[in-house]
Amino acid sequence: MQIRNGFVETVGHTPLIRLRHLSEETGCEILAKAEFLNPGGSVKDRAARSIIQDAEEKGLLKPGGTVVEGTAGNTGIGLAHICLAKGYKCIIYMPNTQSKEKFDMLRILGAEVRPVPAVPFADPMNYNHQARRAAEEIENAIWANQFDNVANRQAHIDSTGPEIWEQTEGKIDVWTAATGTGGTLAGTAIYLKDKKPEMKVYLADPMGSSLYCHVKEGKLEREGNSITEGIGNGRITANVEGAPIDDAVRVTDTEALNIVYHLLHKEGLYVGGSTGINVGAAVKIARELGPGHTIVTILCDSGDRYKSRIFNPEWLASKGLLETLEQPYQDWLHAVSEQEG
Ligand code: PMP
Repeated sequence: MQIRNGFVETVGHTPLIRLRHLSEETGCEILAKAEFLNPGGSVKDRAARSIIQDAEEKGLLKPGGTVVEGTAGNTGIGLAHICLAKGYKCIIYMPNTQSKEKFDMLRILGAEVRPVPAVPFADPMNYNHQARRAAEEIENAIWANQFDNVANRQAHIDSTGPEIWEQTEGKIDVWTAATGTGGTLAGTAIYLKDKKPEMKVYLADPMGSSLYCHVKEGKLEREGNSITEGIGNGRITANVEGAPIDDAVRVTDTEALNIVYHLLHKEGLYVGGSTGINVGAAVKIARELGPGHTIVTILCDSGDRYKSRIFNPEWLASKGLLETLEQPYQDWLHAVSEQEG
């Protein structure tokens, strides 16, 4: 029988999609794992499941307990789903800069959402520190601690890596992904490099993140800014620590958004901004390495989570990004607005 037992068993086993146009254009096989098809809608379902299972196994979380986390959204959504499926309470601290769709979603999923100002990690009011302190004060509660809890990357050592290995039958030359916590990039890299040491791992980084410079020059320095959500970091998390990363590629918002619109327009795939960074990186790597390589990345979440932002011409214009879209994509947006008219 092919039945999965509830939400928890439905996480993972996502299809690996060949991006037809970009593969043909570059002469490389550009393959992307459809993580938006996870039951909670993003790659973070895997980390959420793994973190909760790990806490249960260690006896840190008992029936009726509470899961507390600081999250830019997708981890919270994954945790909230799994908390419902397992009977836990869920409290989420989230920077108030995140999209309205994510806040609404978490509330619908029964999480108690506590919006907090977006301040750096060094500030004690940062959402992560607030989540940790709250968990310490509640009985039978855990702080999921997705950034430094390596049960996060373990999810990808146990599931994403093996799935990609099987789906490509080991025919993979490059693995690339952007990092928020780094769990996806690092865990998948650890598994795949163990199977095939000669394959290469590239960090995909948005502007405003310090990791590109860290991989290239060994120093944590940032430059510019990005409208992408859930990715980029100013420090080396425990999940990234020691991961086999060979090189890094930086992708601008303009490049990422044109990829997002390309995927919608030409492939019928509706994805969020971090996917634009991932696929943008895959295309740059393909051009750098030349034809004949197989490059794998992930489609992190659905565009539905960003309707009011990257699919909204007024919002794009307010960020100076509307006019940086290629003309057919601007025309697409105008046609959408006229229909709404
Ligand atoms: N894309 C999106 C939309 C995300 O929310 C996240 C997680 N914050 C990532 C990518 C990166 O995943 P990870 O935390 O495993 O690095």
